[in-house]
Amino acid sequence: MGITSNKQFRSFALIAASINFITGLLVIVGWILKTRAITHIKGDYISMKFNTALCVCFMGAALFFRLVRGVRKYKGLAYFFTSLSFLIALISFCEYLFGIDAYIDTLFYADSETVAIPHPQGRITPLTCLSIAVISAGIFFSGYYRAARVMQYMLHLITLITFIALMGYVFNIKALHSHSFPTSIALHSAVTMFLLSIGVALLNPELGLVRLFTGKLIGNLMAKQLFTRIVIAVVIVVYLFILTYRNNVMSVELAAVFYAIVLLFAMLLFINDASKALNKIELDRKLAEDRFQLVVESAPNALIISDTKGDILLANRQAKLTFGYSEDEMIGKKIEMLIPRNIRDYHPDIRNSFFQHPQKRSFTTLHDIYAVRKDGTEFPVEIGLTPINTDKGIVALSSIVDVTERKQNERIIRKQMKELKMKNNEMERFTYIASHDLQEPLRTVSNYIQFLQEDYPEIMNEEIKQHLSTIGSAVERMGILVRSLLDYGRLGQNKVLATTDCAQLLQEVVSDLNSLITTSGATIVIQPLPVIDCYRMELRQVFQNLINNAVKFRKKDVAPLVTISHRVVGEAYEFAVSDNGIGIERQHFDRIFLMFQRLHRQDDYQGYGVGLANCNKIVNFHGGRLWVESVPGEGSTFKFLIPFIKNES
Ligand code: ADP
Repeated sequence: MGITSNKQFRSFALIAASINFITGLLVIVGWILKTRAITHIKGDYISMKFNTALCVCFMGAALFFRLVRGVRKYKGLAYFFTSLSFLIALISFCEYLFGIDAYIDTLFYADSETVAIPHPQGRITPLTCLSIAVISAGIFFSGYYRAARVMQYMLHLITLITFIALMGYVFNIKALHSHSFPTSIALHSAVTMFLLSIGVALLNPELGLVRLFTGKLIGNLMAKQLFTRIVIAVVIVVYLFILTYRNNVMSVELAAVFYAIVLLFAMLLFINDASKALNKIELDRKLAEDRFQLVVESAPNALIISDTKGDILLANRQAKLTFGYSEDEMIGKKIEMLIPRNIRDYHPDIRNSFFQHPQKRSFTTLHDIYAVRKDGTEFPVEIGLTPINTDKGIVALSSIVDVTERKQNERIIRKQMKELKMKNNEMERFTYIASHDLQEPLRTVSNYIQFLQEDYPEIMNEEIKQHLSTIGSAVERMGILVRSLLDYGRLGQNKVLATTDCAQLLQEVVSDLNSLITTSGATIVIQPLPVIDCYRMELRQVFQNLINNAVKFRKKDVAPLVTISHRVVGEAYEFAVSDNGIGIERQHFDRIFLMFQRLHRQDDYQGYGVGLANCNKIVNFHGGRLWVESVPGEGSTFKFLIPFIKNES
């Protein structure tokens, strides 16, 4: 419970507070300037006493400070002002009660007027005393639930009494407001107390009769509308009745019957309006209900609504299909029948905890939840629970999806991934072992060539020498290929993640390739490069291979120009090494990244076709991708992505 947060109510209370404060202030000025039009309003009306005006000011200020939220100091001020007004009202009331003079009446202002009979000079009237005391206490206790509940009804009483007094003024019935102890109250006092009593009651809109009008349900809206209209109708009819009576237009009996009939017709009209509005709302509700039913029925998920006791209230078509029950076998039965036996006994506790803290919950495949069909078979499910507020209290809407198939697919994918990984490892192991074993016979062949050359010089003619030299270079080349294969297999085995300044890395690469660059007359342009987390040694190899190729595959008579640049693409760095070399035809764009794939003869451009395969593997284990963009005869750009990697070390 707390001070109202409803904007409308706050505005009303603020207006009431302001009117009070201003009226109080005006009347104080009126007394000081002795202006009867302000203090009395009309000649024969009783005046708003100086002390009343003070209290009205205090209460207005107190209500204002009570409405300002979040500032403790203001709450203190509210208590201070209400205490003051309460005290003044209490002392004045005690004066009446015990027939004493506590000198409060003339303490702040001495009224020279002596006509305030039957009230002693300047004293607040008893009814006003009561109103001030109740309203002050109402403001004081508005934050304390128990006291506020009682005060709310007291405030209603003040609203009623001041309303009667106001009617007295409107209908000019003196007995209702003036000179007849104890109902006398000044007109402006009646207005201010009336407004204040409502304004203060609105601080707790959920308490007392205010609840009837402040609630958001249809009944509350109807009550507010009907009550306002009835009050206005009654006031008008009573006023007309009095006028008729006073002017002797017709006999009292006739007037009573006539106005009773008028009132009846007015009521009938209001009831007609209200019933029309209610019928429309009922129709809309029914329509919404039908629509809800339709949506629930046609939902692809199994939907079940159950109450706090676990009784199933609704099950859609899919729910019946999923669980294999008929409508009758589900409705009114316990939801526990859909839960596997091993956890069935605990479920009521789980259910209770849900209803104690009703909020959306979901249980995915990660929770490993199972449901049970009518035939006893269990199946994995995903469940979404949503609490719904209904006129029967909170109920739970469970949305259930049978995930048997998904789980099976997940299992298959997991198995295939495992197999694939094993196959890959096997392949790598095989390549490594094969290349390792191949080196041995190669060494033997090359040893034998050496033996032949050294031990049999007598049979070495030019032709044999030539053959042996060809065999020798073929074996040497074979050795290099086998070593390359071995290196490829080992690549990344000892990789270390390091924060790397790419600009510095490129300086090192260029310095390594110095002799190639100078002899070819190449220009290497290194644009600003980032500092990144990567496998430094391996990345260095990538740049080395790409720059080496960019210089190697140059056009005849054109000095190579190689540019290294980068940009950030999403969550990765994209590096580019571009050249003005011979270029590559589109159909070879993929092939060149495979092991031992070359596009030229050894005589034209030397190489073994392993550089790009290595680059590709390195970029791949960074989680990136390597590709080429090229126009034959104009040049190529090799691009690769290195995703942002978090270096935890
Ligand atoms: P290698 O350079 O030893 O031949 P790579 O694997 O590095 O082997 O390259 C494979 C093939 O891709 C090369 O033989 C060449 O035909 C082509 N290639 C690589 N880089 C370039 C480039 N910058 N310009 C033109 N062609 C290139």
